[in-house]
Amino acid sequence: MNVAIVGSGPAGLYVAEELSKRRPDMRIDVFDALPTPYGLVRAGVAPDHLSTKNVTKAFDRTFERSTVRFLGNVTLGSDVSYSELKAAYDAVVLSVGASVDRGLGIPGEDVAQAYGAAAFVGWYNGHPEFRNTVTSLDGNALAVIGNGNVALDVVRIVAKTPAELAGSDIARHAADVLSRGTITDVYFIGRRGPVEASFTSTELAELGELERCDILVDPSQLPTEIGPHVPEKEVKAKERNVEILRDYARRERRGKPVRIHFMFYAAPQAVLGKDRVRGLSLARTRVAENGRAELTGERFELPVDAVVSAIGYRTKPLPDVPFDESRGVIANDEGLVEPGVYAAGWCKHGPRGVIGTNRTDAKQLVERILSELDAVSDRSPKRGGNAIDTVLREREVRIVDFRAWQRIAQAEEARAESGKPREKFISVDEMLDTAFATP
Ligand code: NAP
Repeated sequence: MNVAIVGSGPAGLYVAEELSKRRPDMRIDVFDALPTPYGLVRAGVAPDHLSTKNVTKAFDRTFERSTVRFLGNVTLGSDVSYSELKAAYDAVVLSVGASVDRGLGIPGEDVAQAYGAAAFVGWYNGHPEFRNTVTSLDGNALAVIGNGNVALDVVRIVAKTPAELAGSDIARHAADVLSRGTITDVYFIGRRGPVEASFTSTELAELGELERCDILVDPSQLPTEIGPHVPEKEVKAKERNVEILRDYARRERRGKPVRIHFMFYAAPQAVLGKDRVRGLSLARTRVAENGRAELTGERFELPVDAVVSAIGYRTKPLPDVPFDESRGVIANDEGLVEPGVYAAGWCKHGPRGVIGTNRTDAKQLVERILSELDAVSDRSPKRGGNAIDTVLREREVRIVDFRAWQRIAQAEEARAESGKPREKFISVDEMLDTAFATP
């Protein structure tokens, strides 16, 4: 049997791993629009969280299997169509992630120097689509909107010194812009309170280690109790977060060059400035008993020079693939898109969970795929990768296979400055030149 997996991030690669273990004879083709695999592990995980990226070693073992192929630089919709995939493979798994920023839906959010986190994070991680997102971070104040781990990553990366980023795999163009940056005040803005924030305590505690930062927390915003709206299983983690914030609030200001201001109970209403960001208009909130934010009627303005909104992602719709516009995901019923087609990961259920979550999900999905495939007794044989190889050859698509990707990876390692694990190529042309260079 032949299975196509579209998207080589953790969701797709855990499915590939599980399928290839359960059915060693199954032929699995993993497609990606980029010449590089690993999705968010490469373009989303923070560049200073290198240990998280070690998961790629396990993914590589899957690609080393003779039955699993990587077909990079192949875009669903332009190089190969959805119907061609369905015709060629016994099952198709869509695992394309969620790469589009959810909009704030407030006036001014498209003005210059207002960025979405997908673009901002993609920029510092060297994603080709976002390499020109930020050309300078001038001015003194940056507002980061959202209280999740993505927002926390953005705050930390901007606040780190060049020396603190030296061992990371941050793209050189971003390291240069950040080192020339003049930001002295980073406002970390949550529309609800410390208890409702979705960042996790390990990541929150990391902020306290930053060399050039004072962290400012208003103790009056810290709750005395967690509150009945928080599910029992989350209470301990919330208590830990509040404890860390209380420690920050107690700390003496040491006159460091950068200040990180935690600003809870503040809902953005408008990005101010016509030609570029000049400020943010915010409404004070309180958290009701049901846990939701309510406006108090008080408003205030915060002068800032740039804004990054990290409030979640949507999936980019794929040509001909059913899409759920309201949820921003591929339309699916518990993973089933239509007979023989499945969705996995963030394009199935939205942007939540950590990398490892995909492993558990993959086991369940593979169970379902195999039982549904096995239930069909009069299957007409599908040509699988052979059919698609012919189509792609006719269209002169330059497929980056796993060996070609490894040439890119080796070149990125070879050109990195000492201490850096890799210097990523940030354009598809450079990647292809390297992948197909004659030795
Ligand atoms: P998230 O955890 O859902 O956080 C989104 C934040 O945006 C929330 O604080 C939310 O507030 C806020 N928000 C949403 N709409 C808003 C609006 N209109 N105005 C103001 N604020 C708004 O999502 P994420 O940070 O993008 O992370 C996505 C997933 O990746 C999460 O599962 C995360 O844990 C994971 N991740 C993990 C790591 C790590 O483990 N180190 C790193 C990065 C990402 P409300 O709660 O009030 O809606």
